[in-house]
Amino acid sequence: MSVLKQRQYPAFLVIVAVSVWVTITGNYSFFSNLLDVYPVSWMNIGFIGSLSVLLVAVTNILVSPFAVGRMFKPVLVLVLLISAASAYFMDAYNVIVSSEVLESALQTDASESLGLLNTRLFMYLLLAGVLPGLMVWVLPIKHQGVFRSLLSRGKLMAISSVAIVAMLLLFNSSYASFFREHKSVRFYTNPETPIYTAIKYAKQKLDVAEHVAYQKIGLDAKQQPVEGKRRLIVLVVGETARWDHFSLNGYGKATNPTLAQRDVVSFDHVSSCGTATAVSVPCMFSILDRDHYSERVAKASDNVLDIAQRAGVTVAWMDNNSDSKGVALRVPYTSYRNPEINRQCDDECRDIGMLDGVQKLVSSTPSGDILVVLHQMGSHGPEYAKRYPKSFEKFKPSCSSNLLEECSQEEIDNAYDNSILYTDFFLGQVIDYLRSVSTDFSPAMLYISDHGESLGEKGIFLHGFPYALAPESQKHVPMIFWSGREFAQVQHKLEEPDFSHREFSQDNLFHTLLGLLDVKTSVYQRAMDIFSS
Ligand SMILES: [Zn+2]
Repeated sequence: MSVLKQRQYPAFLVIVAVSVWVTITGNYSFFSNLLDVYPVSWMNIGFIGSLSVLLVAVTNILVSPFAVGRMFKPVLVLVLLISAASAYFMDAYNVIVSSEVLESALQTDASESLGLLNTRLFMYLLLAGVLPGLMVWVLPIKHQGVFRSLLSRGKLMAISSVAIVAMLLLFNSSYASFFREHKSVRFYTNPETPIYTAIKYAKQKLDVAEHVAYQKIGLDAKQQPVEGKRRLIVLVVGETARWDHFSLNGYGKATNPTLAQRDVVSFDHVSSCGTATAVSVPCMFSILDRDHYSERVAKASDNVLDIAQRAGVTVAWMDNNSDSKGVALRVPYTSYRNPEINRQCDDECRDIGMLDGVQKLVSSTPSGDILVVLHQMGSHGPEYAKRYPKSFEKFKPSCSSNLLEECSQEEIDNAYDNSILYTDFFLGQVIDYLRSVSTDFSPAMLYISDHGESLGEKGIFLHGFPYALAPESQKHVPMIFWSGREFAQVQHKLEEPDFSHREFSQDNLFHTLLGLLDVKTSVYQRAMDIFSS
């Protein structure tokens, strides 16, 4: 009986309360980025206040059509949770919840996700999401019929729209400059951006899932008859390595003591296709260039590995990362994140363990050319200190927390640089192995990172920014080449003085691999092959 006497709250009021709550708790990053470009002043204070009203109004409009009937409470709770989780990632790493970030989050496996968990995330979820969500869940709501509740939502949306128009008119010149000059700040709005991103992402996935006929390309692929020794090419796909932290490229700390002793070419201007593994990796193996890349088209057609295999090359993918992102679906694939396969595991399985696989493959392949892809764990963040064995802790003190803001810039850089030092060692070992088999093979190694990383510049960490807004450090990647003297076809190129200073990108990989393997096919473009004369 007491339930009937209990006070019941009108639904629209609860929606407004949730909108106000997420605007306050979920938009710290939005307002701090806003205050960078509109510092607090008498001129700006009204505009900043109007943006708060605008955010509440937009959230009302977004939520209202769905928070009806039985869905009322689930929708509001979901909005609170999305807002709390997004706020954590935006506040902790200054990242935008872009489809790249969402893709990485969803494609990341459990052990990688654990790397992001910490007490601060837990507190965000609890205080900004779970507790207010529970309150909404137990709150007695005034029951209305479907018609009346739709009418009430319509009213709320109309009032919110009027508020939006009023704010735009009152501060029209500020809004004009805001949308013109500071477009990127709006990507920090919460929950607007995460919801928009989630819808966009779902639409992309539906597009990909929609059946598209698989297209084989390069059906005419044939290898030129091999003259001399068999070719053995190791392609190392790096992870999260940024160009400017390699001492080969002028970095102040000695992160490349091993490669400095090998006769390698390090390229100065190589750009990535995306800012996340899930974009860059399939893109670099696909025939599509960055401007035309689409996950749907790339997944439904052959990539350069398929073509090389068809031409008679023995192809294999060895992976110490999450997976091949769909690239190695039709070629032999082995994961090295398992101590039963990888003999070099301590806290985690090390990239160097994949070398055993290369040796086995080489000794069990009696004829023809070999192309092996080694997909590294590299410098995957935020726990850079986990990416190398203790003996590689050369730069100290280093950050060992996944809460990067708890570490100083120096500690973060040191941990990251130690992971680059380990990559340097790994690449050195690959080269030494290739040298050791050069009596039987013409060996070559090409290393290219998938994307870079932000290490706190402008408060930004990790990667996954939308490409157009991404800082240089996320797009400028290292690319390193080594070959034995036997690899005659590239020698003339290596002798050109400006060769390593030319501009290349991951778009070049498809054609460069075909060129290195001497695969003749109509889809090969000589101009895109970095070694073609
Ligand atoms: Zn990556």
